[in-house]
Amino acid sequence: MHGYSVLAHQQWCVQLILKNYRKLKIIYKSTQKQRPLFAWAMGMRIEDIRPTFDVFCLGELLWAIVSDKPLLQLWYFNRPQFNLEQMFPHAPSIKMANPLFEKCIVENEEDCLPDATALLEEVDKVLTIIDRNGDLIDENIKRPCKVCGIGDYELRINQDEIATHEFGLNPRGNWKHKIFMCNYCGHVQLFGIGTGEINPPPPAWSS
Ligand SMILES: [Zn+2]
Repeated sequence: MHGYSVLAHQQWCVQLILKNYRKLKIIYKSTQKQRPLFAWAMGMRIEDIRPTFDVFCLGELLWAIVSDKPLLQLWYFNRPQFNLEQMFPHAPSIKMANPLFEKCIVENEEDCLPDATALLEEVDKVLTIIDRNGDLIDENIKRPCKVCGIGDYELRINQDEIATHEFGLNPRGNWKHKIFMCNYCGHVQLFGIGTGEINPPPPAWSS
């Protein structure tokens, strides 16, 4: 399981498993005595276990599918030896995995999504982004150029009006811009960042 869009390669498998999560629950019920349980399910009787148990187990399973490793230690998905971002440093879509795990592979039950349906919805959101060939557009995330496929986009202008003018653009009104440029072919991505009430910043850039 290597390559550029490792999550995309696994999406059918992930969907299949999530659709059959009730079956998975039965498997865990029958094997739970042989495997260490996570902290907040430890010592609980099986009839007292809440749907969050499924969520944690499904999160572990998602991690195992993508990592191609059999077992995650406790909730340590972001430790170096288990961190998918370090296992697949050249796969931009892998950066969508850890934020998902933060909602299911958790030390404390109160940080966990309430049930498997909620997790399925979160996974669907990620798979939709991958299906649409979407990017995470945080300025700190390296994104490969979609035109030449060789270079990476670099942030050249970050809402700086003078720099925008010098770039050859003459913005009017309450608009600022983020401009990314491929460091190999020069392809430009232009984002308009509104600054007023009529044109507020888009959600991706509002925080
Ligand atoms: Zn390029």
